[in-house]
Amino acid sequence: MAVLQLLKERILKDAKTFPGNILKVDSFLNHQIDVDFLCEIGKEFKKRFSGCTVTKILTIESSGIGIACVAAQFFKCPVLFAKKTKTKNISSDVYQTKVASYTHGTSYDVVVSKEFLTVGDSVLIIDDFLANGQALLGLIDLANQAGATVAGCGIVIEKSFQTGAELIKKTGIKLESLAKIKSLDDGVIFV
Ligand code: 5GP
Repeated sequence: MAVLQLLKERILKDAKTFPGNILKVDSFLNHQIDVDFLCEIGKEFKKRFSGCTVTKILTIESSGIGIACVAAQFFKCPVLFAKKTKTKNISSDVYQTKVASYTHGTSYDVVVSKEFLTVGDSVLIIDDFLANGQALLGLIDLANQAGATVAGCGIVIEKSFQTGAELIKKTGIKLESLAKIKSLDDGVIFV
């Protein structure tokens, strides 16, 4: 079965909804990881960004890392993940930005080393979910600080009824979401 259809079916079958428009896909993406399935997702990202130069995949810890690592095998490039930090004294060796967390309702700082993100890079940003776009905007900010190019953003599950997709489209950056959730009203998943 085609990966997009499979993803849709797994969301409908396995995902659980929580208050605050949160969807949990712990059985295959966010806790237990179905690596074979992620492989198909990685291939799909490669197909969607086939015309793009990608020197690095950029993601954010923690749930983006597994997806990014599997996808990177098809792009033949390294993965760089923005690390969450609690340190107040941010070193001059890192680029830093603030991200509002959708699931925790707080803000946190994330950093990447200047050594690993440079002006010559063309990054593909990958994450598990797109809600209000704050994680992607933070990653785009880090790339901009480094003078790197953003080749595009690849998302496994976009919640299209939230503001993120519009915000990213406004930046002019190519956005590819493999599944789009139209609504989660009353806990009913409408893909
Ligand atoms: P955004 O920054 O777009 O508001 O939210 C995206 C980030 O929050 C992602 O990194 C993801 O981990 C988390 N997130 C947002 N919505 C959901 C959701 O419904 N389920 C899960 N598991 N994570 C979410």
